[in-house]
Amino acid sequence: MNIALIAHDKKKEQLIQFVKENEKAFSKHNLFATGTTGKLLMEATHLKIERKKSGPLGGDQEIGSMIANDKLDIIIFFRDALTAQPHEPDVSALLRLCDVYEVPLATNLASATLFLEHINKK
Ligand code: PGA
Repeated sequence: MNIALIAHDKKKEQLIQFVKENEKAFSKHNLFATGTTGKLLMEATHLKIERKKSGPLGGDQEIGSMIANDKLDIIIFFRDALTAQPHEPDVSALLRLCDVYEVPLATNLASATLFLEHINKK
């Protein structure tokens, strides 16, 4: 599966922890991430991740373009719902495209955990 991993700044530590704990499962998939998230994940694990630009610099739009072109199967996007984001329009556009193309989207740890359990069963 092609999986995108994204986390807003205050959620990056939580995503890193989640990916570290499930590194073996993630290693079986093609991973993509926005710039900073991907950099931190690769520093913290042995995973190979294709990095796009940083979210605020167009990375969310790059991920959105992948969704529109059927290149992603799952999006894990740990959002910080308590902090205003300068690139909120890009974030909304990405989430919107997940619904347009019916791509499974996990925006928090609880839903990402369920997704991963499901993937692991396959
Ligand atoms: P980042 O982007 O991984 O480059 O920080 C994520 C985002 O804020 O959308």
